[in-house]
Amino acid sequence: MRISFDLDDVLFVSPDRFETEPLPPAPFNKLFSERLRKGTRDLIRTLQQQGFEVWVYTSSWRSERYLRALFRCYGIRFDGIVNAQRHLREVQRDRKQILPQKMPGYYRISLHVDDEEVIHENGKRYGFRTLCIREPDEHWAEKVLKEANRIRNLEEKERK
Ligand SMILES: [Mg+2]
Repeated sequence: MRISFDLDDVLFVSPDRFETEPLPPAPFNKLFSERLRKGTRDLIRTLQQQGFEVWVYTSSWRSERYLRALFRCYGIRFDGIVNAQRHLREVQRDRKQILPQKMPGYYRISLHVDDEEVIHENGKRYGFRTLCIREPDEHWAEKVLKEANRIRNLEEKERK
């Protein structure tokens, strides 16, 4: 099963308000200004060990190459990355109707983690599952793991 994460205010957070992962060694700490929410590395690793495919789905314009390099400094390797460019190219394409900024279903993503209310509303409207992670929360990783496993069990049941 695939699970995707938003970046800004979910995995990338402000160190003024959030606990963050330890910085990567120089010069990478200067090359990448983003700070990762504490627990990101272990969470993604655990999800992958449990057999989940972990993706990024962001409406930001950061390139895939930049994101891969940044996360590599933390020992994280995503199974897929959708940024604004890819979404426009593959999902929006030349459709006249403007689609929501994220359509996880298009990539067969079963659960998308995001901080923005509009994404959760779109999820209800367009039929994709979301989990809201927003505020500092020391249990955020457990919540993601629990929900990912719940959805996986649900999907397995639906298939029978
Ligand atoms: Mg966000």
